[in-house]
Amino acid sequence: MNDSPIRFNIPVPVGRELEYVAEAIHSGHISGDGPFTKKVAALLETKLGVPRVLLTTSGTHALDMMALLLEIQPGDEVILPSFTFVSTVNAFVLRGARPVFADIRPDTLNLDETQAEGLITPRTRAIVPVHYAGVGCEMDSLLETANRRGVRVVEDNAHGLFGKYKGKYLGTFGALAAQSFHETKNFTSGEGGALIINDPALVERAEILREKGTNRSRFFRGQVDKYTWVDIGSSYLPSDILAAFLYGQLEQREKIQSHRKRLWEFYYTALQDWAQAHEVQLPHVPAHMEQAYHMFYMLLPTLDLRQQLIAHLKERGILSVFHYLPLHLSEMGRRFGGREGDCPVTERVSDQLLRLPFHNALTQEEQEQVVEAIREFDF
Ligand SMILES: *Cc1c(COP(=O)(O)O)cnc(C)c1O
Repeated sequence: MNDSPIRFNIPVPVGRELEYVAEAIHSGHISGDGPFTKKVAALLETKLGVPRVLLTTSGTHALDMMALLLEIQPGDEVILPSFTFVSTVNAFVLRGARPVFADIRPDTLNLDETQAEGLITPRTRAIVPVHYAGVGCEMDSLLETANRRGVRVVEDNAHGLFGKYKGKYLGTFGALAAQSFHETKNFTSGEGGALIINDPALVERAEILREKGTNRSRFFRGQVDKYTWVDIGSSYLPSDILAAFLYGQLEQREKIQSHRKRLWEFYYTALQDWAQAHEVQLPHVPAHMEQAYHMFYMLLPTLDLRQQLIAHLKERGILSVFHYLPLHLSEMGRRFGGREGDCPVTERVSDQLLRLPFHNALTQEEQEQVVEAIREFDF
């Protein structure tokens, strides 16, 4: 057995990232909205077929911009899964909204679309599906409910870039969508994100919010002759150095995604028999989805077995991790009235889920070691 540990995630350059970073630095434009920021935005706009993409400093900031653009007010309600990262919820709570937590489906671990209707009240402003592990939520049903009840849908697509639901890219369904380029995501700039704007009516205000509440973007396009303070805002622009790194990653998107697909399929096939024999649930990808290959997880029968397997793998130099403690049971979640039993599937899955090492530098030899170690875990 190899004695160097198998890490859970390793961010690595896969193409011309370092060359582009040097180019950005030598060009003399290293603040926001330089040539590489424009290249990344254009690449994503073309590939996804959306009106506008604005790079942000993080996925969290893209979510914050979303809540500002929806003009969320104190007392408004937003429906979201409890099984997600804190930023999905914080963005709306920062504006004074009350989070209303929905449970997840036991198969895809995505927001249970059949619960949305029953959670809508006259104060509901938005539903925020999170495409967990890059497998799409049931968007037809969610959009139908939301449109009928006059509620907006905005997507947290941090896991799902280039994944599809019924042939259409995730992140192109809601009025807005947030992407993340954190080092744990498929494509990275260390820290980074993007706001995808599908509703053209929101483009101009999004540009203003991102530019500290000024009409700087319109000024640079020659649409106004002065640039001035016109609205609230903040600084959500990443440095062009980061955009340069990200451009190098996104240029290699096919290579990255086909590598991740191979990794995912290897785990899935190699663990099939062991999983069946031990009643371990492997990920489910419905036929009408093309997943984004963000992660590989399994659900162990109990919390105790999950913890034992983490320890068993750790002893063999393999790092595996659990994911998402239910937000409705967190300290903050409880302040919004969250109680045990509110989201039973979330509570169970949070105890059972284990993520295996999965990243752009992972090799098949390493995966074979992981699989072998798992097969030795008999119970
Ligand atoms: C990573 C992630 C975010 C936040 O992204 P950052 O770029 O780290 O701010 C938001 N939502 C989900 C579901 C994520 O996984």
